[in-house]
Amino acid sequence: MFIDPFGRAVNYLRISLTDRCNLRCVYCMPGEGVQWQPRADQLSAAEIVRVVEAAAEGGVSRVRLTGGEPLVHPHIIEIVRGIASIKGIEEVSLTTNAMLLESLAQPLADAGLKRVNISLDSLDAAKFKRITRGGDLTRVWKGIAAAEHAHLSPLKLNTVIVSGLNADELPAFARLTMENNWHVRFIEVMPIGNAQDWGEGFPSLGERYVSVQEMRSALATFDLRPATSPQGNGPARTYRIPNALGTIGFISPLGEHFCQHCNRLRLTSDGKLRSCLVIPAEVSLRDAVRSGKSIEEFFQQAVAQKPEHHDMLIAVPTGSQRGMSQIGG
Ligand code: SAM
Ligand code: SF4
Repeated sequence: MFIDPFGRAVNYLRISLTDRCNLRCVYCMPGEGVQWQPRADQLSAAEIVRVVEAAAEGGVSRVRLTGGEPLVHPHIIEIVRGIASIKGIEEVSLTTNAMLLESLAQPLADAGLKRVNISLDSLDAAKFKRITRGGDLTRVWKGIAAAEHAHLSPLKLNTVIVSGLNADELPAFARLTMENNWHVRFIEVMPIGNAQDWGEGFPSLGERYVSVQEMRSALATFDLRPATSPQGNGPARTYRIPNALGTIGFISPLGEHFCQHCNRLRLTSDGKLRSCLVIPAEVSLRDAVRSGKSIEEFFQQAVAQKPEHHDMLIAVPTGSQRGMSQIGG
């Protein structure tokens, strides 16, 4: 069992399978000129499975695949199958923009995937296209239907709320939970990834942030009641509209620290273990994986490095942060 210096058991690993993506969401990446990591620097499917085997030996039981866009990885099915068959791994889940989910949902479920989180920032097709710089909303709906058909549940929708962009859609997203057993989670935008200028018509850096308290106020008419979190809801505070099928969660990486209950490590797409999303310390295990050495000690090092908490507002504006797509948001 991995226990960090503050007594927290670390049993959850988030893996950024690739830094590549088929969209360019404004808060995550610049529209053009993204420098991808060389493929040779990225772990292969077999290497990823080996790393998870070592993690499972140390007590990791849940794995989330993210990116970049995990579904653009050419060996995604093989990776899911490999990880799901590791002794001790109880759950493999995935975070996706759903552009490729319609055809992949069933093969992923057959390979052992348990559930998906789908990122969806607007219910308006034109706005969705603008935020994602080219995404097609109809493909998201088809992906959601395919995920439900493949029993990838509970199904969660992740919505990053940005003032002057989609904050006006909070009530419409909340209403989705009344008729659908979906778990909508509203997330504060973080100044990580693409914190620069997003282009004409988008809010500037100082105008984007909406706190979860402000989000809750915008939903005051819904009479939100505290609810039990659906499985694996981690840092979300969860509510339900009376009689609704789904729930509404709020995730506040900036305002309300959830560090106290942090149980995770992250593996970057180029094979580095990170103890914290925000704090840049990393332990590289790629060379060890490639030379066939034991990698458990690298996990021990990363666990020992876990900070008690971060202070995002102080830690972030260093200019040297990796993007969310490399770390795995
Ligand atoms: N491509 C997949 C997707 O979009 O679901 C997985 C990777 S993406 C980096 C994971 C999550 O990070 C998405 O839900 C996205 O909205 C979130 N994210 C990216 N940049 C963010 C930022 N600056 N602030 C808050 N959330 C962010
Ligand atoms: Fe791609 Fe996800 Fe980043 Fe959007 S948030 S650009 S879908 S990695």
